[in-house]
Amino acid sequence: MPKLSETFTVGNLEVAALSDGAPERALGGFFNGVEPADWTQALGITDPEQPMPFNFGTFLVRGGRRTVLIDSGYGPVAGTMGITGGGELLQRIEELGVGRDEIDIVVHTHLHPDHCGWNIPEEGAELTFPKAIFFVSRVELDHWEQAHLDDDERVQVSRRAMAPLKAAGRVATFDGELEVTTGLTTVPTPGHTPGHTSLLLASQGEHLLITGDAAHHPVHLEHHDWIPGVDLDPRESETSRHRLAALAVEKDAVITGGHFPILTLGKLRQVESGYQWVPA
Ligand SMILES: [Zn+2]
Repeated sequence: MPKLSETFTVGNLEVAALSDGAPERALGGFFNGVEPADWTQALGITDPEQPMPFNFGTFLVRGGRRTVLIDSGYGPVAGTMGITGGGELLQRIEELGVGRDEIDIVVHTHLHPDHCGWNIPEEGAELTFPKAIFFVSRVELDHWEQAHLDDDERVQVSRRAMAPLKAAGRVATFDGELEVTTGLTTVPTPGHTPGHTSLLLASQGEHLLITGDAAHHPVHLEHHDWIPGVDLDPRESETSRHRLAALAVEKDAVITGGHFPILTLGKLRQVESGYQWVPA
């Protein structure tokens, strides 16, 4: 049974890793152009078709001036997918004793449907987080609005998730690095999508780096040139992993990601061949 919720601290902030569904996923073919034997060995598995634990994860940060949710999961649709915890993010938040109206800020790493699903409970219904301001990269928001993407179903899902927030004046865009609230800074990591953003959390000298989909698995932080088929710009995606790894080492940051199973935390150590993941 996968874990659906776990809390840990970064300085005087409390971070809750919350799942909106923890499926098992066949990783066969996940990385473009990488021999299955290479990545199965790196992942410590013997059969390329063996499913790997996956997660549609979000993070709730409390204890600072603002209560912040990073990404909003797959949303109601996840509840129909028959996966453990699918579509239960709002329950996970409630279990922490946090009201939806206590969430001041939602930050999106990007606007794929598994990251903005709970922005609205269902089409036409009221806002899920009635007082929150939603931060998203301007480049990311613009990308999904392009007319030539009108017929793409995933694009339509993202637009539906953002439209009522835009209409209510609750969307704040940013370019590059922005300190969204004290200690939480955006780190541009384009490639997976054009405005993809990772997040750096700092408190009392401790740092947490939340990769977003710049890394789907810790092994990705060792093999920067492994490109998931879902990345829109492979070269930028690789460059962003270089940048993330360097930043993690510079800050001695603990690293986690929304698609890492709960609770996966580690640091990167610089070694001769590049970087090595060290579980924390
Ligand atoms: Zn994702």
